[in-house]
Amino acid sequence: MRIFVCIKQVPDTETRIKLSADAGKIDEAGIKWVINPYDEFAIEEAIKFKEANPSAQVTAITVGPKARVNNALLTAMAMGADDSILIDSTESLDGVQTAKALAAAIQKEGGAHLIYAGKLSIDGSTSAVGPMLAELLKIPHVSVATEITYSGSALTIKREVEGGTMETYKVNTPALIAANKGLNKPRFASLPGIMKAKKKPIKEIPTSDLGVTGANSAVSFSQFELPKERAACKMIAGDAKAQAKELVRLLREEAKVL
Ligand SMILES: Cc1cc2nc3c(=O)[nH]c(=O)nc-3n(C[C@H](O)[C@H](O)[C@H](O)COP(=O)(O)OP(=O)(O)OC[C@H]3O[C@@H](n4cnc5c(N)ncnc54)[C@H](O)[C@@H]3O)c2cc1C
Repeated sequence: MRIFVCIKQVPDTETRIKLSADAGKIDEAGIKWVINPYDEFAIEEAIKFKEANPSAQVTAITVGPKARVNNALLTAMAMGADDSILIDSTESLDGVQTAKALAAAIQKEGGAHLIYAGKLSIDGSTSAVGPMLAELLKIPHVSVATEITYSGSALTIKREVEGGTMETYKVNTPALIAANKGLNKPRFASLPGIMKAKKKPIKEIPTSDLGVTGANSAVSFSQFELPKERAACKMIAGDAKAQAKELVRLLREEAKVL
C-alpha cells in the first residue's frame, strides 16, 4: 500500500518578511523555513496508518527548490516517513501547476492507496492544492478533517464546518484527506529518527519530466506590500481611575473614535 504525504515548506510565522528591492517577490535571505503546520498533522496521520498497517510505504512528496525543501523531507522522514520525492522547481508555480506536478509524480509511482495533505498552506493560503490533486487523480477527497476511522477500504471522516458544526463523510480508498488541527498530535523527530532519515532515499524529479512549467501558471505575483507598521503601544500610568480618565481622553482627542 502506497501512502503519500504532500508537504510544503513555508516561512516560520516568527520570520520577519522582507521584500525584494522592486517589491516583486519576497526576499528569501534570512527566512527560517519550516514544514507547513497543517502538513505536520498529515505526516502524523500517515505514520499512524503505517503503524497499524506495517506493509504500508509512506512517501513524503514536495514541490519546491531543492536547495531548501530537502530539509522538509528530511524532517518528515525523521518523524517516520519511509522515503521522499522531491519535485525540484525554482520557478513560482501556481496551485494548478503544483497539483499537476504532484499528480503526475504519484501516477508515475503507480498511484496511491491514500494521500494526506494539509488543509491550507500558511503562506499561499489557497486551500486548493489538495482538492485539485484529488480531482486530477479522479479520487474522492475530504478536507478540514479532524477525525478519521479506518475500516478496510472504507474511511469515515469527520470535518468541522463553519460555526463548529461537524460533518461526517464516508469514502473508499483511494482517497485524499486534507488535515486540520486536532486530527492528532504530531510527534517530534527523535534523535535516532534524525540519524535514520539521512540514509532514507530521496528521489528527485525535475518538473520538466512531469510536463509542468511556471510558464503555464495562470497566477503570478507582480507586487507585494507589507502591512502598515502599527504605532507603538502606549502605556497609561496611574491608578485605575486615572487610567480610565486618560484612556477616554486619548480615544476622544487622539484616536477620535468617541
Ligand atoms: C514565498 C513563496 C515562494 C515560492 N517559491 C516557489 C518555488 O520556489 N517553487 C515552486 O514550485 N513554487 C513556489 N511557490 C509557489 C507555491 O509553492 C505554490 O503556489 C503553492 O504550492 C500553491 O498553493 P498554496 O500555497 O496556496 O497551497 P494550499 O492549497 O493552501 O496548500 C494546501 C496543501 O497542499 C499541499 N501543498 C501545497 N503546496 C505544495 C507543494 N509545493 N508541495 C507539496 N505539497 C503542497 C500541502 O499539503 C498543503 O498543506 C512559492 C510561493 C510563495 C508564496
